[in-house]
Amino acid sequence: MKKHNFSAGPCILPQEVFQEASQAVLDFNNSGLSILEISHRSKDFVDVMEEARSLALELLGLEGKGYKVLFLQGGASTQFLMTAYNLLQSKAGYINTGSWSDKAIKEAKIFGEVIEVASSKDANYNYIPKGYDIPKGLDYLHCTSNNTIFGTQIKEFPTTDAPLICDMSSDIFSRQLDFSQFSLIYAGAQKNMGPAGTTLVVIKEDILGKVERQIPSMLDYNVHISKGSMFNTPPVFAVYTSMLTLRWLKKLGGIAAIEEENEKKAKLIYSEIDLNPLFKGFAKEEDRSTMNATFSLVEGNLKETFDAMWKEAGINGVNGHRSVGGYRASMYNAMSMESVAALVDVMSDLERKA
Ligand SMILES: *Cc1c(COP(=O)(O)O)cnc(C)c1O
Repeated sequence: MKKHNFSAGPCILPQEVFQEASQAVLDFNNSGLSILEISHRSKDFVDVMEEARSLALELLGLEGKGYKVLFLQGGASTQFLMTAYNLLQSKAGYINTGSWSDKAIKEAKIFGEVIEVASSKDANYNYIPKGYDIPKGLDYLHCTSNNTIFGTQIKEFPTTDAPLICDMSSDIFSRQLDFSQFSLIYAGAQKNMGPAGTTLVVIKEDILGKVERQIPSMLDYNVHISKGSMFNTPPVFAVYTSMLTLRWLKKLGGIAAIEEENEKKAKLIYSEIDLNPLFKGFAKEEDRSTMNATFSLVEGNLKETFDAMWKEAGINGVNGHRSVGGYRASMYNAMSMESVAALVDVMSDLERKA
């Protein structure tokens, strides 16, 4: 039986994408060849790469606005250093809203001065800092739109004259934003776009070429742009499966349509967390993420009963991250309302039994 998968990442993808992708492993486009054995320079695969790129731009509303799309390897973690390598000449600002921001800061410090413009570390990252001053003269300002581990999400992005860089690994394509406020967006595919193995980078070309250091080819955005993400062998299967997910999203009505679904799912789980006296939320209410809901049991002694109940209901992946504890329900784009309802039913069953 298919599980209700609340895993934080790698995570759920649309069932029809799993089916199409597995068919392509056996026979891609009726070519008599598997997607896993064709040349990345074949017309069939070049078409896949092109379609993935143009779907990403179209869904984000960034066509014709000077952006390039790359599908790279090394995960979002490589982007922590690649952004700084390519863009940090003297000093950059970082908003520290969780472990991922913290890791990005650590890498950037290798390349120049890092100013931590704001941080919510003082409260184990259960809120998004607001009302801070942003210094002038930054090479860029870096933020993390959705804090996967802590369940917070930036609703209003900072305004600055410096290029804004955003790690959108866990909420890209989930909500409508003016994406043109960002000069660079990156996202590991495995949270909301595809399988692990590729990282989406959407970059405004005019921010490049401003640092003096020499950049190794594999870490140079300009090299990847000039080669159309084919400087070396791209992660063929991860790009293909991401493309299928983007096609699925477009067919569904794009980001506007999925945002509506995501809001309904979030409302359902958060109202249970708020109304059920056995549970309490972790993230501050106004900063709650629509993607990752973090919560815990008020009485620890109910843990064994609750864990047995959700397992029995076919639910997977709701254990919280070790740095927060409790539970985390990740509800990415492909998660159905029925799955969220299944978890909410177990939570309310627990209240009836306890
Ligand atoms: C998962 C995650 C990362 C790390 O991604 P990798 O692809 O594993 O390197 C970075 N940032 C955020 C917000 C994440 O959720």
